[in-house]
Amino acid sequence: MSTTLAIIGGGPAGLMAAETARASGIEVDVYDAMGSVGRKFLIAGKGGLNLTHSDDFETFVARYRGRESDVRSWLNKFDATALRTFARGLGIDTFIGSSGRVFPIDLKAAPFLRGWVRRLRAQGVRFHVHHRFSDWDANGALVFDTPDGAIQRHADATLLAMGGGSWPQLGSNGAWVDVLRTRGIEVAPLQAANCGFEVDWSEPMRSRHAGAPLKRIAARLDGAGTAVAGECVISAYGLEGSLIYALSGPVRERIVADGWALLHLDLLPERSTEQLVAALARERGKRSIGEHLRRSIGLDAAKSALVFELLPRTEWINPGRVAATIKQASVRLLRPRPLAEAISSAGGVRFAALDEGLMLRAMPGVFCAGEMIDWEAPTGGYLLTASFASGKVAGAGAVNWLSQQH
Ligand SMILES: Cc1cc2nc3c(=O)[nH]c(=O)nc-3n(C[C@H](O)[C@H](O)[C@H](O)COP(=O)(O)OP(=O)(O)OC[C@H]3O[C@@H](n4cnc5c(N)ncnc54)[C@H](O)[C@@H]3O)c2cc1C
Repeated sequence: MSTTLAIIGGGPAGLMAAETARASGIEVDVYDAMGSVGRKFLIAGKGGLNLTHSDDFETFVARYRGRESDVRSWLNKFDATALRTFARGLGIDTFIGSSGRVFPIDLKAAPFLRGWVRRLRAQGVRFHVHHRFSDWDANGALVFDTPDGAIQRHADATLLAMGGGSWPQLGSNGAWVDVLRTRGIEVAPLQAANCGFEVDWSEPMRSRHAGAPLKRIAARLDGAGTAVAGECVISAYGLEGSLIYALSGPVRERIVADGWALLHLDLLPERSTEQLVAALARERGKRSIGEHLRRSIGLDAAKSALVFELLPRTEWINPGRVAATIKQASVRLLRPRPLAEAISSAGGVRFAALDEGLMLRAMPGVFCAGEMIDWEAPTGGYLLTASFASGKVAGAGAVNWLSQQH
């Protein structure tokens, strides 16, 4: 009799597990809550699919702050180069962008996903959409909510790849957390990662500057090491954008510890304080202060607004104070935005609950992969790469375990 693997969740992790298990001759069923698989992957492609990164291996591994050794073991089996080769196998050539990020030539996710699902179907993988896993029943069967009501399915092994809790409208709503906890599995609370943070802006700042980018700046969490260069966006609620996302893990932890986090922004990293003071001390004439900042040091309206927000009005004409604020604009971050808005989640099934094949120690025959495991990474292709890699490891783990059962 053939051996069956039920994969719950058809995102990058689940599909990679399906590919891996099917290649070993296992009967694979992929169940997904939505009407089609890979919805978050498709959205990830909307602004240009950042598939992976060209960092050298050690730099790449270091992105998985606090989980380096676990994720390293996945990347040893499937790294950025393997992912680019895999994409090529689907007819998707990739290129390295100026930031070192890797994208498909056409930047899109849809051709990748379409080609992959077509190939998986041709290999015999069976897809069951509109099947939302709810729990196991008393006999150990998988229970799914479907448009025709609840149904039960048996499988020889099960692989959970239900994603994190961000953007729940795309299918991954984190409802599995309680299901696993009820079964004694240790799950770290899902929290927003790669998210914006709230700031108590003044009304003029909020109404006039929401949406304005702060380009070519550097940011450093108070008391933390080196500054990170990049850009972010002033939003009505606070700050968002890639530079803020990159720091979101440490910022979130600081807020948990202290109730808030102080972020120091260098608005003109290429200029020294002394250069700025000298330029600002020049005659202003009849120009407004904003115009003086623009003409003398090239400070744009959004950056000037931030300086005005942070300095009392009486100091706006003080070159030393203005220069110091430009070099260290300290913004108090109060709260992360809700998980539903975040790019990804931190938290999930703890590594201690899993063996090296990503099987739940407390539930033999049940494997986990992807964002539902307790790791996080900044944007830059690291999220997708680890999701694919863990799918590969869990798929191989399931194959290995099944081979020992029969
Ligand atoms: C807007 C946005 C942009 C992003 N851009 C990038 C990027 O450019 N680069 C990058 O590396 N990462 C990016 N990410 C993150 C990346 O998309 C995710 O980390 C990745 O998709 C996680 O893969 P996964 O397979 O673990 O989970 P998911 O992709 O979330 O897939 C999980 C699947 O499980 C299904 N599911 C959930 N619960 C159930 C259930 N109970 N029963 C059945 N099925 C269920 C869902 O419908 C879904 O199809 C982005 C995310 C967002 C939201």
